[in-house]
Amino acid sequence: MNHHMFQPLFYQVASGRIEPSNISFPFRKIFQQSRNTQFRMTDVREIDPANNKVITDEAEFTYDKLIIATGCKTNFFGNKELEGKAFGMKNTQEAISIRNHVLMTFEKLIIEKSRSDDGNWNIVIVGSGPTGVELAGAFAEMKKISSQEITRI
Ligand SMILES: Cc1cc2nc3c(=O)[nH]c(=O)nc-3n(C[C@H](O)[C@H](O)[C@H](O)COP(=O)(O)OP(=O)(O)OC[C@H]3O[C@@H](n4cnc5c(N)ncnc54)[C@H](O)[C@@H]3O)c2cc1C
Repeated sequence: MNHHMFQPLFYQVASGRIEPSNISFPFRKIFQQSRNTQFRMTDVREIDPANNKVITDEAEFTYDKLIIATGCKTNFFGNKELEGKAFGMKNTQEAISIRNHVLMTFEKLIIEKSRSDDGNWNIVIVGSGPTGVELAGAFAEMKKISSQEITRI
């Protein structure tokens, strides 16, 4: 990624409350006043601690001190069915995919005039940490607004 993402607010992007650009900040803009910082977007393949080197797809870089902050990937805990069907939410693109899918589903439901008790409205959130709870609240708000919309049609 060439931009910093404020991950705690991904749930707001996923529920259409804010634009991705509100929580995405290009690294080059952040460091544009910093004369001793260069940004390169590439994959780190190897660390050579004996020679203080970072080996990437594009070049080798030497270092005095090295900070590694490679984050983590979504863990499906070996559940293949979940992996095939669920959306992750670890980057901006994934948050946008959730938003687009949910909004298009709500649009479809409004046209079909489906009711909330027919089962079509279920959104399943796997993982009930703070992000899961925030998402549940945001989707509940969306559902409330959509239900009012259907009643008006
Ligand atoms: C939805 C969500 C909500 C969160 N909410 C909170 C919160 O409220 N409070 C809180 O404290 N934390 C929260 N977190 C956790 C917090 O965002 C992370 O702990 C933090 O971003 C980790 O920082 P990081 O720099 O290690 O990794 P990241 O921010 O994930 O960045 C890692 C970067 O390394 C890159 N990378 C990985 N491997 C390589 C490689 N081999 N070569 C080159 N680049 C590589 C990745 O592409 C990525 O750009 C949340 C996370 C998520 C997903």
